[in-house]
Amino acid sequence: MAARGSNGRSDPADAIVVGGGMVGGTLALALAAGGLAVILVDRTPLPAMAAAAYDGRASAVAYASQRLLAQIGLWREVEHAAEPILDIRVSDGASSLFLHYDHRELGGTLEGAPFGWIVENGAIRRGLAALLEAAPNVQVVAPARAERLEPGDPVAELALGDGAVLAAPLIVAADGTESLLRGQARIAAAQWRYPQDGIVCTIGHDEPHDGIAHERFLAAGPFAVLPMTDAPDGTHRSSIVWTERAPYTPAMMKLSDAAFGAEMQRRFGDWYGALRVLGGRWRYPLRMLHAERYVGPRFALVGDAAHTIHPIAGQGLNLGLRDVAALAEVIVDDRRLGLDHGSLATLERYERWRRPDNATLMAVTDGLNRLFSNDVGPVRLARDLGLAAVDRMPGLKRLFMQHAMGTVGTLPRLLRGEAL
Ligand SMILES: Cc1cc2nc3c(=O)[nH]c(=O)nc-3n(C[C@H](O)[C@H](O)[C@H](O)COP(=O)(O)OP(=O)(O)OC[C@H]3O[C@@H](n4cnc5c(N)ncnc54)[C@H](O)[C@@H]3O)c2cc1C
Repeated sequence: MAARGSNGRSDPADAIVVGGGMVGGTLALALAAGGLAVILVDRTPLPAMAAAAYDGRASAVAYASQRLLAQIGLWREVEHAAEPILDIRVSDGASSLFLHYDHRELGGTLEGAPFGWIVENGAIRRGLAALLEAAPNVQVVAPARAERLEPGDPVAELALGDGAVLAAPLIVAADGTESLLRGQARIAAAQWRYPQDGIVCTIGHDEPHDGIAHERFLAAGPFAVLPMTDAPDGTHRSSIVWTERAPYTPAMMKLSDAAFGAEMQRRFGDWYGALRVLGGRWRYPLRMLHAERYVGPRFALVGDAAHTIHPIAGQGLNLGLRDVAALAEVIVDDRRLGLDHGSLATLERYERWRRPDNATLMAVTDGLNRLFSNDVGPVRLARDLGLAAVDRMPGLKRLFMQHAMGTVGTLPRLLRGEAL
């Protein structure tokens, strides 16, 4: 816990991170690895976030993101729960046309590399909780609600729900899509709600998945079947992300496991034999959000608090991890030069680095969802021809594959697999 004096104030740290989710937790560890004293605040205790019922999703962790996780020591905590993605098959509904990405086509320096790994969020959260609690220069303050941001110089202050006040030269908000601190920093955001929800569950099946990630575009939205590690008893498992029209999802959630399994089978067919639901089902409303600015005086936004995207391409967390790598690098580099790491000049370098990549991915995911989540005949024909054309262009395919792996552009050191 942060040291608090009798006046309810805390000793200043080098940085305060609000939000101990997968992005905020990773940032706290990265900054700590770079030598900063960090206070991490979350309204939920970390062990509660690591409980199985808290988050039923599994994330596609891109190839470059894995290198960041390895650098901060998190990969060795989650490796046992990570299944490599070797093959991606995209199809348009019942159409027989496929877009097929095979990791063996990558070649060059990426020869033999998987596109990424499917990792259960529960495993990531458990790994983060263990490392954060053990990190000597991270103080976890949870449960504690961040309530008020007070800009200031040379430190900004953060008031917590229990009246305590924390202070640091930099406060980073990793407090998710609904970010309270974004509003308090008077940063507006463009946002809308998709008319879809994402239903998530784990399925067991008789046939192995062979490392294939399937993305099937249906009229209601994409239906993804993502390869997971086998259960300890040898059951083959996959994670389902089923995008459905929002008005229908409450009824879907209430179906019996048998009826729900039959609906999945109708959408996915017999690729893996009989499908059965393992454990619970989760429903997530889908949103798009982009903050007008990522930074302010002694303040920065990262992850979903800065940008929230449709899960169609499994990239939201990966964008957040790229924010972490870029922000940690500009901060640590400036501190090494004896500069003020909370200054606007430092933080603006982070924003300039990250905004174009985030904006591009947001436009691509939003466009793909609009293009594919409908059943209009001519649109369908055009997109099927598009899929078939891309499938015959090895150069373009290779570029798409490298984007999915997060290896395109000027990468921060952590994403290149180098120390900070
Ligand atoms: C169905 C679905 C599937 C997805 N699949 C993928 C995928 O395969 N790959 C991928 O890259 N991404 C995926 N994503 C996106 C990814 O899950 C998110 O981008 C990521 O979880 C965002 O993490 P975050 O830490 O930024 O935010 P959050 O997880 O929202 O964390 C915010 C944290 O802040 C805390 N908090 C909030 N307000 C306060 C406050 N006032 N005081 C204290 N604490 C506070 C909360 O308790 C929480 O712990 C998916 C998303 C969905 C919906």
